Amino acid sequence: MIDEPAAALPVRFDVGDGWLRQHVDRRLVLRALLSMGASPALAGCASSTTATHRSWASGSATGGSGATATDRIAARMPGARVLHGSRVTLVGDVAAAQLQVLFTAAERAVGWVSQVWGEPTVAAHAPLTLAAPKTLTEFRALGGGTGEAGQIAATTTPSRLIVISPQLTTEVTAEGVVVVLAHELTHAVLGQGGLTGVHHWVIEGSAEYTAYRPTGLGLAAAAPQLATVVAKGQVPTGPPDDAEFSGSSADPQQAYQYAYAYCLFLADRFGLAAFTSFVRAADARSADAFASAFATSIPRLSDAYATFLRSRVRAG
Ligand SMILES: [Zn+2]
Repeated sequence: MIDEPAAALPVRFDVGDGWLRQHVDRRLVLRALLSMGASPALAGCASSTTATHRSWASGSATGGSGATATDRIAARMPGARVLHGSRVTLVGDVAAAQLQVLFTAAERAVGWVSQVWGEPTVAAHAPLTLAAPKTLTEFRALGGGTGEAGQIAATTTPSRLIVISPQLTTEVTAEGVVVVLAHELTHAVLGQGGLTGVHHWVIEGSAEYTAYRPTGLGLAAAAPQLATVVAKGQVPTGPPDDAEFSGSSADPQQAYQYAYAYCLFLADRFGLAAFTSFVRAADARSADAFASAFATSIPRLSDAYATFLRSRVRAG
């Protein structure tokens, strides 16, 4: 898993009408970061990780802030300890040092989420609950993926519970863990874990945008596959289709990078406030979310997006 290039990672993702095979993989992104080694935020970032969020069809797991929810989560992990922060609660039976690394990362990541979505949005769901099981069996029992759980870094359930793979801290540096948790915490804060009827690029792009924004990484570093395609002159003119995120896609990993890039473009062109308004409206399934936020349409932005991509890829 560490040295191999990205492979398809079949993960089940509930989209309401059944189970869609969903492949998620951050591996190439983090490998690229490692090879560049120039990012102040992510220098030395570990070689591989994957992340996804699995949606449960109904409330078979419980997140939330109540003692009952925490107790129920802890019951799946004998000997679990609980670390309380003002905005996050971490429950886990991993080693104490590992638990502390995750707690520190979660506190930092929730700050990154607050920078984009605002402290009131974070506070409305605080403390956000994260579970850190020490075995894959516990990881799965808490909702962390399916039979391929060994290749999943973290899962966000519809009840906003984030389940962290026991392999995350062994395969990703502390900085990489913050990126992964910021991605998942965005889903948790925005209630995206169980969303249906919303384009994948909005859900994944908003989480990726939030997670990479504080790193200061250029587009070519955060989205190396996209950068390669753009450098060849095959410049996308809009966000990725939902089908590109599915298991039937030739390279679902690429779709995450395309989604990230489009969200970066929107935030850059229209400002953070317009971008977050759009995501909130889209998540609420507002039919005219895009037009309301940006006063234009995706087709009308195609030339501007292509220009943006060429420019950012050239910049590195
Ligand atoms: Zn995600």
